[in-house]
Amino acid sequence: MTDCAEDGCERPVAVELHVPWADNRLVCAAHARVAARADGVVADPIDDETFRC
Ligand SMILES: [Zn+2]
Repeated sequence: MTDCAEDGCERPVAVELHVPWADNRLVCAAHARVAARADGVVADPIDDETFRC
C-alpha cells in the first residue's frame, strides 16, 4: 500500500483518479472527493476497506 500522491498527505491510497490532462493519480478518499469535482476527472475507488464512509 502506498501513500496519497498529494504533498504532505500520508493517508493510504483509496482511489485512482483518471485525469484527462495528466497522468493518473493515486490518492486518499478525502483528496479524491475534492479532485473529482473537476470536469473530466473520474474517481475510481480501489477495492479496499479504507474507502468505506
Ligand atoms: Zn490525500
